[in-house]
Amino acid sequence: SPIERNMRMRDRDRRVEELKAAVHKVLMLGDHGVGKSALLQQFMTSEYMGAVDASFDEGFTDACEKTVSVLLDAEETTMDIIDVAYGKEQEHLNLPDVAAYIVVYAMNDRSSFLHAVEILQDIRKVEDKGAAVILVANKSDLVRKRKVNSEEAKGICSSHRSKYIEVSAALNHKVDDLLVGAVTQIRLRPKRLER
Ligand code: GDP
Ligand code: MG
Repeated sequence: SPIERNMRMRDRDRRVEELKAAVHKVLMLGDHGVGKSALLQQFMTSEYMGAVDASFDEGFTDACEKTVSVLLDAEETTMDIIDVAYGKEQEHLNLPDVAAYIVVYAMNDRSSFLHAVEILQDIRKVEDKGAAVILVANKSDLVRKRKVNSEEAKGICSSHRSKYIEVSAALNHKVDDLLVGAVTQIRLRPKRLER
């Protein structure tokens, strides 16, 4: 009936509003040593980075969690970025309402890529809320030791509906693009849900 449809629309609108106002949960996943902590550290120095709540800061030693707000196009997006320690993926993948998954591998380490592909498959099994998925090939400064070419990685991304970016945390190359890309994808989430 029209009344029911109206109620459904209002439910949906409320859900979209909630998503816009929420603190967005972002998981960083990938093998030990691929550069997750280094990337997070570079995020903190980004010109887009606004207020930071470092109450969960554990000194980037292992897993850590940071609540940050990013200012982009005069709009603030607050994220809770969780650097998931290697081996703890399964418990984190069950977290409800993750807004974005940043899956990292090192382009000079093939086994870290194969593990990233497994993580993408695991995400696909649990994800149905329009979350953004970004595959990150880190250590692009070591391109001469590359063990995974861009085409292979892009192929994986198109079959997993994820974005792909090559960065270097060491040189701070394209790390801002990754941060901006993540925020942009998070902002598109209500649109993906409406589909
Ligand atoms: P995590 O275990 O995924 O958190 O990885 P870390 O951030 O601790 O980095 C592991 C090692 O890789 C450290 O020695 C970093 O200095 C190094 N590393 C991180 N990012 C890069 C990068 O972009 N290029 C290079 N050459 N080394 C990097
Ligand atoms: Mg780390």
